[in-house]
Amino acid sequence: MECVNHSNAEAQDRCTGCAEPFCHECLVEVVGEKYCGSCKVLAVKAKPVQEEAMRPCEEATHALLLALACATVGLFCFGIILGPLTIVKGAQAWKLISEDRRLLGAGKAAAAVIIGVVTFGLSCIGLITAASHRGN
Ligand SMILES: [Zn+2]
Ligand SMILES: [Zn+2]
Repeated sequence: MECVNHSNAEAQDRCTGCAEPFCHECLVEVVGEKYCGSCKVLAVKAKPVQEEAMRPCEEATHALLLALACATVGLFCFGIILGPLTIVKGAQAWKLISEDRRLLGAGKAAAAVIIGVVTFGLSCIGLITAASHRGN
């Protein structure tokens, strides 16, 4: 049995991917299995996806929905309450995503936090402005 790549070299084992015989120079071990050069690339790419399916982080989606509700409905009325709530929700989602790399939605979580901060900031300005007007 000869190596597919080296016609004068004795094959050491068969590739797990394509089952062709290869010499020890051509075979690379990936997670305990032997692969040839071209199958190795596919195996390395495919392994993590097969083992851990990516899924969206629900917390991040909820946080963003809350942020959008907060920005549209409650800007000057409830922003002072919803703003911090959104920041907390977004931060929780962000923490979950950073701890579990299978979770998607880091962008959503970040957006929720930013919207929360902006809404809270605008609400504060709104309240201060209203208070100073009342004072006069
Ligand atoms: Zn192969
Ligand atoms: Zn070889």
